[in-house]
Amino acid sequence: MPVPRKRVPRPGCPFCFEELPRPEPLAGTYSLDEVLGGRCVECGAWFVVDETGKSGGKAVMDLLVLLAGGDLQRALAYNRDADYQMKTVPWRATIRRFGGRATGQALMQPQAWVARLVGEAAGSRP
Ligand SMILES: [Zn+2]
Repeated sequence: MPVPRKRVPRPGCPFCFEELPRPEPLAGTYSLDEVLGGRCVECGAWFVVDETGKSGGKAVMDLLVLLAGGDLQRALAYNRDADYQMKTVPWRATIRRFGGRATGQALMQPQAWVARLVGEAAGSRP
């Protein structure tokens, strides 16, 4: 399907299609590395930016722990689709928060992982 060439907006939330906020360093994630991400103001979905496009497993764990409010045991008990939905959206390196240097790591496509709680899990947290 042809796509008209025009200014590309910031990536939108895949759940509610609101523009995602600017990513910030997140606290309370699973990995010890700095994680950039944020939360959709519209529907409350969390997102984590995977700038290399190959940290998927880590990004998923970070997201689940965020969804669980930092509780790893709770995060591990979540079941996909029953307790949460997860999607990825392409992420453009131009909107990264730190630095402006191109780093020649263009083999993998940067992406953001976005997840939100559904069902009973969603109701158990404010
Ligand atoms: Zn949203």
